[in-house]
Amino acid sequence: MEERKTKYVFITGGVVSSLGKGIASASLGLLLKKRGLSVNILKLDPYLNVDPGTMNPFQHGEVYVLDDGSETDLDLGHYERFLNQSMCSDNNVTSGQIYHTIITRERRGDYLGATVQVIPHVTAELKSSIKKLSKINGHVDVIIAEIGGTVGDIESLPFMEAIRQMGLEGDPSDTMFIHLTLVPYIDAAGELKTKPTQHSVKALREIGIQPNMLLCRTAKTLGDDIRNKIALFCSVPSKNVIEAIDASTIYEVPLLFEEHDFSNIVLKHLNIEAPEPDLTEWEDLVNRIKHPNNRIKIAICGKYVYLKDAYKSIMEAFYHAGAENDARVDLVWVSSEDIKKGGAAKFLDDIDGLLIPGGFGERGVEGKIESIRFIRENKIPFLGICLGMHCAVIEYARNVCGLKDAHSFEFYRELKNPVIHLMADQEKITGLGGTMRLGSYPAVIEKDSLTYKAYGETEIADRHRHRYEFNNKYRDMVTKDGMKLVGLSPDGKLVEVVEIENHPWYVAVQYHPELKSHPTKPHPLFRDFIAAAVKYHKERRSAVENPEQNSIA
Ligand code: GLN
Repeated sequence: MEERKTKYVFITGGVVSSLGKGIASASLGLLLKKRGLSVNILKLDPYLNVDPGTMNPFQHGEVYVLDDGSETDLDLGHYERFLNQSMCSDNNVTSGQIYHTIITRERRGDYLGATVQVIPHVTAELKSSIKKLSKINGHVDVIIAEIGGTVGDIESLPFMEAIRQMGLEGDPSDTMFIHLTLVPYIDAAGELKTKPTQHSVKALREIGIQPNMLLCRTAKTLGDDIRNKIALFCSVPSKNVIEAIDASTIYEVPLLFEEHDFSNIVLKHLNIEAPEPDLTEWEDLVNRIKHPNNRIKIAICGKYVYLKDAYKSIMEAFYHAGAENDARVDLVWVSSEDIKKGGAAKFLDDIDGLLIPGGFGERGVEGKIESIRFIRENKIPFLGICLGMHCAVIEYARNVCGLKDAHSFEFYRELKNPVIHLMADQEKITGLGGTMRLGSYPAVIEKDSLTYKAYGETEIADRHRHRYEFNNKYRDMVTKDGMKLVGLSPDGKLVEVVEIENHPWYVAVQYHPELKSHPTKPHPLFRDFIAAAVKYHKERRSAVENPEQNSIA
């Protein structure tokens, strides 16, 4: 039998950034998978960092960590969530990685005296990193390659050139170019405007790429007149000008695309036959997200609350857990520095749960510790993640065990009581890139715990990204006073999960559960955290509405 070819879909963006190229790419991946095709997907990032691991979240948003420990772009989170497929380091390629490989090779003398150049050497390396994905895990029908940045950026030119060349390599049906643009609505004129899209496609054509399809991001429905106009000026068939209207949840995007025959048009171009997708599970999810019967408030207390992208996976994990619990989760973003100044009660008075996310550095830590004291004393559900667990341990050591000067070695080197300290194998590490404890590690969970109730298993594995850990010298002290170390690494040396006695739902973990939450299968800890918050909310409301029932007779 003739082996089926792997086909390539390239997704570029124009006009402005943040139009949702990642979601559009992930939506295509989902639709093709739902049609029974095998799909792989990658993000090509033009920046010179080898990976985003060393970047400030204000610059880049969340660093998404994979099972294999790679630190990648947050779009890989969307890929995993939409495709329900684990990514690996090959699914995120940066200019930094490409140049690193080429320069190492050049120093070794591999180029045999040739002048090493962007064309053909960088482009060849880029093409081979895209094609490489066709060989992972058996045959792949379609590879979706999302090119970071916006057409016209100087740094993305080699990427554009590489995909242009790939477009010439086989039959026209072997590759497809999809361009995502913006069709802005101008209030004063009361009109949608096509000119930015025309300019963006012009820029793409100047590089030698003629798009086969346009995804037009818009706040208002695109009429036939607008679609025909874009089609004419951009040399794209009118039916291939697809409306990408603003959606109330990202999980609705693939459904909205399908209303315009999106995946059929793609498959027709690629000359692939496949059954219609069954999207009932996804429709049900969107329905649950959009029409919940409960509504709760969860406070997220962190340092980067002004940049929501820094907590992307956490926000998504809340959507998943909310849908499962029939609840809308309103996130209340509280700056840890404000808590330090104004006190926890002022900001956390009417919340149903608190989440302290991961983070780095001392700024805002005292506010986080104070907010944990508040929810512990008031028995409000709590989930602490990574730095959130460190803060929980510090709070407990200070306010329950009476160790007033307890702190983390991450923030102060001269400490009498470093209840959180540097992991031993981190001591000799000097470089910052890719050197934390990264990726999936197992943990053993004690049966008598909320964590076991959530997972239903004693052996679990989740993803990590940290240098500091619970200091084992303080195990006896905290456990004597009611903190339970319910999750340990299999060798028993590293504390992975802590809980406390006499609290309805208090779990703090060294790892990042948000990175393994799926829309139709929420992470068990997020699921149970939200269930506890819904319960807390109902009890609190009934206490307010029927005070006599709750008073002691
Ligand atoms: N800064 C802490 C550490 O390195 C926590 C990291 C995190 O929250 N991801 O251990």
